[in-house]
Amino acid sequence: MAKCAEVKIAVFGRAGVGKSALVVRFLTKRFIWEYDPTLESTYRHQANIDDDVVTMEILDTAGPEDLLQREGHMRWGEGFVIVYDITDRGSFDEVMPLKNFLDEIKKPKNVTLILVGNKADLEHARQVSTEEGEKLATELACAFYECSACTGEGSIHEAFHELCREVRRRKMVQ
Ligand code: GDP
Ligand code: MG
Repeated sequence: MAKCAEVKIAVFGRAGVGKSALVVRFLTKRFIWEYDPTLESTYRHQANIDDDVVTMEILDTAGPEDLLQREGHMRWGEGFVIVYDITDRGSFDEVMPLKNFLDEIKKPKNVTLILVGNKADLEHARQVSTEEGEKLATELACAFYECSACTGEGSIHEAFHELCREVRRRKMVQ
């Protein structure tokens, strides 16, 4: 198996769902409350995945993305995280249109995706049930994780690593 593989991951979802908080939680195991929602950031992170050193490039997309920018980010990415907020039904409703746009930009066979329902710590304000998340993930044929960037509950680490594994598997058979 190739060493020092690179995997490009782009994170999408409505503004405020916790994309930046999730990425920073994954990278630092910490929660930082506020980010500039208009900031787009790319991080490079080395991880040991199944005895291989993998360099992950993670693009944390920003709120005011126009269609052209979004298209560019989708073309760039190999693995995608679509995030919604379990306390914001509207953010859940935006998942399917995002996936459809992704399929338009890339051939569906080039789309490796995971679905993340964030803010699982806010159970009292929940608007989207776990079952609805699971059902949507089945429709999208992707893995589903419910988690909290705030408390660290759920498998944020595993989600990113599993996405990397899937992208690498796909690249190996193509
Ligand atoms: P982005 O626009 O998708 O990048 O969202 P941010 O990461 O900037 O987060 C938006 C707001 O939600 C911030 O005030 C965060 O502190 C908050 N937030 C993010 N993740 C969580 C979470 O898991 N639980 C809670 N309670 N708040 C969160
Ligand atoms: Mg952000």
